[in-house]
Amino acid sequence: MNAVTVKDVYENALLPHQLHAQLSEREGQLLTNEITALLSDSYCIDDTTLKFISPFYTLSDYKTLNLVRNSRGRCAYPLCDKFLNGGSVTAEFSGSMLGFCSGLHYDCNNYILNQLSDDPPIYLRERIHMVSRFDFANMRKQTYQVELFEDYLKKKATEYDMDTINIELDKFRMSY
Ligand SMILES: [Zn+2]
Repeated sequence: MNAVTVKDVYENALLPHQLHAQLSEREGQLLTNEITALLSDSYCIDDTTLKFISPFYTLSDYKTLNLVRNSRGRCAYPLCDKFLNGGSVTAEFSGSMLGFCSGLHYDCNNYILNQLSDDPPIYLRERIHMVSRFDFANMRKQTYQVELFEDYLKKKATEYDMDTINIELDKFRMSY
């Protein structure tokens, strides 16, 4: 399957839910499940796509996405196109280093997990699914949208030298 784009998410997951601004609990879950299905055997084509889907994930649903990807033998990080050397990873080890192609993607994924919450649930995140909200030409940060570890590293790289970045990384790793 081709890499998942913002347009894919828009057409497959959001477009069916444009009739009302308030999702039902079931619709909210359907929407998230649809994105998870897209990413179960594929990956986000770019960081914009990963940021774009993040408001549609609670912490629990994102962990499910990680697990589904691992069960297919894929690196749990949704922005990664790599398969795991050891084949599929079960629920027991999903979320551990075994579920990732590299330490970097383990960190990237934890950086996202740290920003997600189960509260509020998707259906109470008012209007997040309404496409009229999106400015596709200028993807500004949306409510509930996560920041990526890659961006954090880029920002740090312009502020500090590599030694400082490594110290910061160690501090970050100890925080989870
Ligand atoms: Zn990876």
